[in-house]
Amino acid sequence: MTTITRFAPSPTGRLHVGNIRTALHNWMLARKNGGKFLLRIDDTDAERSREEYVDAIRADLAWLGLEPDGEERQSARLDKYQAAFDALRDAGRIYPAYETAQELDLKRKIQLGRGLPPIYDRAALRLSEEERAAKEAEGIAPHWRFKLDHDEAIAWDDGVRGASKFDPATLSDPVVRRADGSWLYMLPSTVDDIDMGVTHVLRGEDHVSNTAVQLQMFTALYAAQHNSAPNVPEFAHEALLVGKEGKLSKRLGSLGCDAFRERGIEPEAIIALLARLGTSLPVEAIAERQSLVESFDLATFGRAPAKFDDAELERVNTAIVHQMSYEDVRQRLPEGMDEAGWHAIRPNLSHVDEAGEWWRLVTGPIEQPDFSAEDRAYLEVAAQTLTWSEDPWHALTNALKETTGRKGKPLFLPLRQALTGMDHGPDMGELLPVIGEGEAKARLERAAAS
Ligand code: GLU
Repeated sequence: MTTITRFAPSPTGRLHVGNIRTALHNWMLARKNGGKFLLRIDDTDAERSREEYVDAIRADLAWLGLEPDGEERQSARLDKYQAAFDALRDAGRIYPAYETAQELDLKRKIQLGRGLPPIYDRAALRLSEEERAAKEAEGIAPHWRFKLDHDEAIAWDDGVRGASKFDPATLSDPVVRRADGSWLYMLPSTVDDIDMGVTHVLRGEDHVSNTAVQLQMFTALYAAQHNSAPNVPEFAHEALLVGKEGKLSKRLGSLGCDAFRERGIEPEAIIALLARLGTSLPVEAIAERQSLVESFDLATFGRAPAKFDDAELERVNTAIVHQMSYEDVRQRLPEGMDEAGWHAIRPNLSHVDEAGEWWRLVTGPIEQPDFSAEDRAYLEVAAQTLTWSEDPWHALTNALKETTGRKGKPLFLPLRQALTGMDHGPDMGELLPVIGEGEAKARLERAAAS
């Protein structure tokens, strides 16, 4: 059976790092099994859903390299939800309820005040035909609840949490449809998972109790619409992503691709970090997606919240940048910077956009420090010694070591300062050929004459 996973964001905002992680894990699960990764836009809430967010979700996934193998939209499938609704209502699994939000709120408060769990009391189920007719005559449109079967045990083997079970009597019959006819998340998602042949539902642990409800919906829908035993996906709920301090942070809820991009974070760094965070596998700067995919295993996922740490992301990013090829970055490099320049400068970068600053060491002008008379004399010798070869830096320093007897810092530092204006920086063996013979000689001569 082909593995089919889905990422199902509601287009009511931008993707944040938590969503990105869920998308990534679903993508990896599909890729690992040679399956399909679907993007399902959960846009039944017409009021809060925006087309610009749909576009942004697609663009973010593309930037991250998590392109889906197919896209579905709930707003285009309303007739399917209606059919499922009708079938469940005919089967007695969906019933109308007439309480207002205030009434429900009051009921909950009373239950909590008595130390009882705030479970819906099913008062609507006890209404007589006449009472219902009276409500309708008053012009009160019902909302609709799915009737949980209190005799059907709810149990599943969760891909992350292991054996899981719920007593249905501890859950409220969920509202599936509002009085205005609009759909809540619970039923459409189950209908879609069936229709789209989803084999694995991997999502955050905030959905655990939804899974309990949806498992009964699967059974009810298969019985009512397909006349068969349920074919239920495997469920896995990953621990939530929290800030470094261990708390659910507001900041994470708004941290998305734009912010990462602005900070010069590479998509591969985000992927490498989020692929492993919260698992027993080490977070490593793995730029090869295929290796990440191969090592993906739900069994490595821990139950404790995954901690997102910006400093760790920066470390991974730096290590990723150091592996990037010229081809990967050439569009983003300063004018004129060639492959040798990239290789010389790359080890000094934490972010690709810092290449420009370092490239100025090559293009100049550079500002040299004040040299002592002794160093000026030394640099004079250096200017005369400089010859061009495959490896001019080692040729120069070896020759100077011989002729001047200098070694270590006094040998190297004045040369670096004269050639780059800095005390530290790229490996001179790589950088000097990029600076070029004429410019290098001129810089040494200028320093000698200063
Ligand atoms: N739209 C739902 C959400 O973003 C989807 C949950 C699911 O994966 O089923 O929470």
